[in-house]
Amino acid sequence: MVSPKAEKKPARKTAVARPALGHWIGGKERPSISGQTFPVVNPATGLDMAAVARGQAADADAAAKAADAALRGPWSKFSPRQRARALFEIARLIRANAESLAELESQNAGKPIGEARGEVEAAAGCFEYYAGAVSKFFGETIPVGASGLDFTLREPVGVCALITPWNYPLVIASWKLAPALACANAAVLKPAEATPLTALRLARICAEAGVPEGVVNVLTGFGPEAGEPLVKHPLVRKVSFTGSTAVGRHLMALAAPSLKRVSLELGGKSPSLVFDDADLDRCAPDAAGAVFSNAGQDCCARSRALVHEKIYDDFVEKVAACAKKLRVGDPRDPKTEMGPLISQRQKDRVLGYVAAGKEEGAELVCGGAAPDFGGGFFVTPAVFAGVAPRMRVFQEEIFGPVLCATPFKTEDEAVALANGTDYGLSGSIWTRDVGRALRLARRVQSGVLSINSSSSVHIEAPFGGFKASGLGRELGMKALELYSEVKNVFISDR
Ligand code: ADP
Repeated sequence: MVSPKAEKKPARKTAVARPALGHWIGGKERPSISGQTFPVVNPATGLDMAAVARGQAADADAAAKAADAALRGPWSKFSPRQRARALFEIARLIRANAESLAELESQNAGKPIGEARGEVEAAAGCFEYYAGAVSKFFGETIPVGASGLDFTLREPVGVCALITPWNYPLVIASWKLAPALACANAAVLKPAEATPLTALRLARICAEAGVPEGVVNVLTGFGPEAGEPLVKHPLVRKVSFTGSTAVGRHLMALAAPSLKRVSLELGGKSPSLVFDDADLDRCAPDAAGAVFSNAGQDCCARSRALVHEKIYDDFVEKVAACAKKLRVGDPRDPKTEMGPLISQRQKDRVLGYVAAGKEEGAELVCGGAAPDFGGGFFVTPAVFAGVAPRMRVFQEEIFGPVLCATPFKTEDEAVALANGTDYGLSGSIWTRDVGRALRLARRVQSGVLSINSSSSVHIEAPFGGFKASGLGRELGMKALELYSEVKNVFISDR
């Protein structure tokens, strides 16, 4: 018989019971020192899909020590060519395991399976790029005043703490791990608590590719419990973080006393600036894709459409038609274009912004509903018209499928609106006027801009933000500068 007390407590919704996955530390799977675990949820069903170790300070310490020891082990003897080969092998193994990685990412992050496949390929491409980069990143010889030879060396920074978010778990882990390894560092990767599963697989792939034990460690757990002791750890020399601006600020302060190197990729409120000479038939679907893909959980999401008044109504109608056509549903269905949000908390947050937009006087043209698809955290793509700069939906990062449209009259007004938030990560400029494109490319305060396109991220090109959107750049050869120290050496000829 069930006691009344037990009846009151809702049972945890579980799909399957499996043993908890441990951290990956020093080339081995290890439970948390406390023995604690926490559940990982499939956001399309709301059901637990796995349990993982709940890391705390003692586990962060073990991971940092394993990474530090690895810096003095066989890894330090790898020639650049051997490092490059290991990175090429990681890329090959990611491709060899592509389908199972895509399925895992799709289930854990709620991504449509087609998108998850694309992301796995992007992760492989990133390791391949940095494999090739190993031999193309080197110091200089400098003509100095003294008599002799002056040259620079690029040396590893040391132990890197890589703290990643839940929106592109495998991709962003690759953006950090690949350049870190290319520069001969060792790493502790702390994936987001919601999406640790592909990071744990990636660590095993690195081991299989011949990366020595302790060079790649994965610490699972919550930000304040596991991430924070890692950031404060005296053996950690660099912190690379992707996530919210609030946490980024906090981590920078934590890293300050020991002057750790810090790079931050933070939030955004990126605009699409649409002029009256834009090709609307191309721009409207692209602008919709740029805010609704990954259910808007993208720091580059073009969440503000700033549109010339002459074409404003036409644009809103076309973009809303695209939003209404999007197939929202089961991420496993290849026809699905938008999956759920990551969690109930995120769903509540997004619905809160939909309510705030309406209260502040914006017009909800479509979407913003929460369909009941069997327990998942779904919200339909929303378009707001008549959004004014004073409104919260214009200023604050929603991180969900919500597009805010605002009209403008002149180029100056468009620039003022574009620059009128704290953020400066990405942006698009839609115009056929080359002169205007060039003027605006200079005036919009943003780390990444696309003209007649919404594409922000290229493995080969620097990516990062102005203002509250971050510090430093990821990807391309620029990232390597942040995973290495420059040493200047002078040899006298006397
Ligand atoms: P969100 O609020 O969308 O989950 P966060 O910025 O909080 O985004 O999370 C991004 C990453 O930062 C995750 O891996 C999370 O665990 C980690 N994190 C959050 N808070 C802290 C913290 N105080 N110290 C270290 N890491 C943190």
